[in-house]
Amino acid sequence: MYIENQPVNLPILIEKQITLTIRREDLIHPVISGNKYRKLKYNLLAAKAQGCKTLLTFGGAYSNHIAATAYAAKLNGFDSIGIIRGEELSTRWEANFTLKLAYEHGMRFKFISREAYRNKSSETFKEQLQIEFGTHYLIPEGGTNALAVKGCEEILTSKNKGYDVICCSVGTGGTLAGIINASEPSQRVLGFSSLKGDFLTEDIRNFVSKENWKLQPDYHFGGYAKVSEALVHFINDFKQQTKIPLDPIYTGKMMFGILDLVQKDEFKPNTKILAIHTGGLQGIIGMNNRLKKKNLPQIEI
Ligand SMILES: *Cc1c(COP(=O)(O)O)cnc(C)c1O
Repeated sequence: MYIENQPVNLPILIEKQITLTIRREDLIHPVISGNKYRKLKYNLLAAKAQGCKTLLTFGGAYSNHIAATAYAAKLNGFDSIGIIRGEELSTRWEANFTLKLAYEHGMRFKFISREAYRNKSSETFKEQLQIEFGTHYLIPEGGTNALAVKGCEEILTSKNKGYDVICCSVGTGGTLAGIINASEPSQRVLGFSSLKGDFLTEDIRNFVSKENWKLQPDYHFGGYAKVSEALVHFINDFKQQTKIPLDPIYTGKMMFGILDLVQKDEFKPNTKILAIHTGGLQGIIGMNNRLKKKNLPQIEI
């Protein structure tokens, strides 16, 4: 069942007279969910058109993009290679839910050091990959390139013109760029950053020409893939109240941020907000394994 837009009713929204609707992109597919499906769509078509048989991409141990690429590659008859950050994983990747899932869908890995990973865009490294893996279609980390942005422009349809504010979580910013391009000039687009640092604004500007958007830098909870007990409780409470699951790396932080801004009267009464649920739910199991080891509360499944 694919529910497109789902209204959310919470006491705080009624009190502040705010309408909040969630676009359930997470229901596209359990693994190739949300924005990762959108980002891969035109890249897979391009790879096919170029006659490439192998997809090669990059990611960390919990990457939704790695999981989605592996699954989509298999579904579309490609081989897939994941260049994974962290050499230490080479001996224990099977204990990692995301990597195991990707492996089971045919992805093969090359584990590299964090330092080598930082230089992954260099020409020397690309040449090395060419020698090691032969001809391949390269998809950047997080899947963001011009074709990915084009795919994300399809998240908003004509049905979504009536919203005043559109909210989306941000990693590399490719998804937000697509939403900005597809937005109406009268709409405001708010990106909730899951990472520390403000290098993202420039990255996003490379893909958009509009000015009706802003990044919210205050809801990263310490940085990429960092979570707090408060965030875990928020995700569990939100699910209990709305039946909508959120992931701990992206959508949980965005929704926490939206409701915090509502609480602080950042939105005028009668504002209609559309929040994009970009998916990422496969990451919950991996995060719960980490929380369990630290004796912290886990996300309810
Ligand atoms: C990857 C991801 C994002 C971030 O997308 P970018 O285009 O890199 O900004 C947001 N939400 C979820 C669930 C993701 O998996």
